[in-house]
Amino acid sequence: MEPLCILPLKRAVMLVMSGKATVLETDGRQLHAEHVSVPLPVVLCLTRYVHVPVRRPVPPTRRTVLARDSHRCAYCGGGADTVDHVHPRSRGGRHEWSNVVAACVRCNHRKADRLLHEIGWELSFTPRAPRWSVAFGTAATRAEPLWSQYLVA
Ligand SMILES: [Zn+2]
Repeated sequence: MEPLCILPLKRAVMLVMSGKATVLETDGRQLHAEHVSVPLPVVLCLTRYVHVPVRRPVPPTRRTVLARDSHRCAYCGGGADTVDHVHPRSRGGRHEWSNVVAACVRCNHRKADRLLHEIGWELSFTPRAPRWSVAFGTAATRAEPLWSQYLVA
């Protein structure tokens, strides 16, 4: 299983009522209609496999890199609001997930266009492309904590 999208509640209930989806997570409340009641769906699973032919990868942008790294500087662990290319672009580093980390302004300036081994720094993690938590936005997972376990990278 993998996350497909976020639906309006009405649409989610329709999918359950028509048998096209089952409820994986509910917040415990029940929705009552004339003849039936349905657990209020928070996470659904489609009953039929849906092929998603083109999945656009999440591009590394300032917003998505900061979200992936939880706004923590990869070098000092402080609050970060810039993006650093681990292997500097001026020295051939590519703008791709494995080469970008969140960094604070201070570390970003101190590191400048040097390589980590040249200044004795190292990363405590291996940067890689995130999956869905970043694509959906961390605000969404904060709004609905039950989603977070389905959105882990
Ligand atoms: Zn820092």
